[in-house]
Amino acid sequence: MDKKTTFNLWYLIAAVLGWLVLQGIFEQAQQTEPLAYSEFQDYLRDGRIDDLVITESRIVGQIKDAGEGEPTRFVTTRLEPSFADELEQYGVQYRGGTDQNWFSTLLSWVLPALIFVGIWMFLIRRMSMGGLGGGLMSVGKSRAKIYVEKDTKTTMDDVAGVDEAKVEIQEVIDFLKDPEGYSKLGARLPRGVLLVGPPGTGKTLLARAVAGEAGVTFLSISGSEFVEMFVGVGAARVRDLFDQAKNLAPCIIFIDELDALGRARGAGPMAGGHDKKEQTLNQLLVELDGFDPSAGTILLAATNRPEILDPALLRPGRFDRQILVDRPDKHGRKKILEVHVKKITLDPAAKLEEVAALTPGFTGADLANLVNEAALLATRRKGEMVRMDDFSRAFERIVAGLEKRNRLLNPRERRTVAYHELGHALIALSLPGVDPVHKVSIIPRGIGALGYTLQRPTEDRFLMTVEELENKMAVLLGGRAAEELVFGEISTGASDDLQKVTDIARSMVTRYGMDEKLGQAAYETERGHFLGQPAEGGGRRFSQDTAREIDIAVRDRIQEVYERTLAILRERRDEMDGLAKQLLEQEVLTENDLPKPIAEPAAVIA
Ligand code: ADP
Ligand code: ZN
Repeated sequence: MDKKTTFNLWYLIAAVLGWLVLQGIFEQAQQTEPLAYSEFQDYLRDGRIDDLVITESRIVGQIKDAGEGEPTRFVTTRLEPSFADELEQYGVQYRGGTDQNWFSTLLSWVLPALIFVGIWMFLIRRMSMGGLGGGLMSVGKSRAKIYVEKDTKTTMDDVAGVDEAKVEIQEVIDFLKDPEGYSKLGARLPRGVLLVGPPGTGKTLLARAVAGEAGVTFLSISGSEFVEMFVGVGAARVRDLFDQAKNLAPCIIFIDELDALGRARGAGPMAGGHDKKEQTLNQLLVELDGFDPSAGTILLAATNRPEILDPALLRPGRFDRQILVDRPDKHGRKKILEVHVKKITLDPAAKLEEVAALTPGFTGADLANLVNEAALLATRRKGEMVRMDDFSRAFERIVAGLEKRNRLLNPRERRTVAYHELGHALIALSLPGVDPVHKVSIIPRGIGALGYTLQRPTEDRFLMTVEELENKMAVLLGGRAAEELVFGEISTGASDDLQKVTDIARSMVTRYGMDEKLGQAAYETERGHFLGQPAEGGGRRFSQDTAREIDIAVRDRIQEVYERTLAILRERRDEMDGLAKQLLEQEVLTENDLPKPIAEPAAVIA
């Protein structure tokens, strides 16, 4: 609702009330005295009554003074309807009147209505602004806790160990420093940048550093603030947030826990639950679309669950830039420690390198906590400086709590993960037509995987040959094959890989007609998915016998590829051992650390 309308309404009410007061004063000035009817009759008989106004219930008039004074006005109750005769008898001038004039009639109806409407609007407004609870009491505009920091001191130097993210976000800083320069060339910056990564990796810190570096205001709010009891409250808050940002531009809006409000629509388990979330999300989308980054406002958001976000949020022109803020590797951890030990008195003999080596899987927040704990321990033993053994003891203290939360791996598990990931990587390097390996990591990601191998897709593929599909399967099977080859036993770590392999093999047999025995027939149509499950009754067009044949064909094909995969790894075993040692040491291997691919990726299919 428009603010002005409400204000005008209040003015009107005030004016009406003022009128009433004035009228009261006026009436009082015109003093009328109550008069008993019997007295009135006496005056009447004396012939001292004049200027009568007779209404249904009252008689108002003047008593002529016996002397020369002013006549007194009086009012009395009308008792006898037939007293006109009496009046005639004494020759009094009289006329009829109504008890209420038009004004008071109007007032008696309109005023309560106005007051009612006023109160109603007031309540609605308060409710939509800040929930019922505090809303009625508080005068503030919005109860959502928007945190505003005008003069941020945080700089990029405070953020360490996430170099890739820092490089990517530098562009945003450059833009904020010189929005005109960017728009001159017609470049369009993303309106929204999504920081993705596990909790405590420094996403908030990074966003704040952007504001600090660019010298703009930092506005932050948590996504959970938008999830409210009342329908429409969340949406109103989103509007409010963007309104505030408009007034504070240039600025950065940072929404933490974007997943709390950006959850995919219609996916909520409770029917009643997603309605208002949808409203809030829709409002966010509207604001995102209507918002003009050339004014120097950029929206940053953080999430550790990008997969549950509504796809509409990630469309071009919205959060179309995603930056991964991952757990730091050993080198990164050392850098982060260096940032945090600035605040303490450190024993020069303490080796941060060793602390970093001790703490795989720690996030920036964990490391900050470690430094603090170590300083506390040093204080307790009344030490002059924080020593190395303070760190070790702090580490032991923390790890007990972290183990469950962060899945810290024991050395044996780390070795398994390292070989598993290298298995993927080496197969990818040995086969033509697969996406080149970009990075191998055994830093637990917190989002499911214990380690990961990043392949850089060369181009979007629309057509794939049998060979390419099989090579893809081989890469997926590489992890399991490496485990079997090196440790002689296999682990549960490959379940995701196996699922994907099975999907490919099954599609080859039943959809692409790539199996000799089953021939060029499509036994299944593309599966319609509903909540991850095949649509009911969808696309099954074969007999029981064929079903068995399909299963066998799928199994044989996977086995065949697996044997090939094992053979390749057996051949490159020595190489693998060397790389594994390096990987366990560094936690991350990049393209440069890995051997050159045997075959160049297949040429672009034109
Ligand atoms: P997130 O928003 O990703 O959950 P935060 O930015 O809130 O994490 O990090 C919490 C704290 O942990 C920061 O205030 C900082 O002290 C420390 N921290 C986290 N990541 C880093 C980092 N990369 N470099 C330095 N300090 C970090
Ligand atoms: Zn794997």
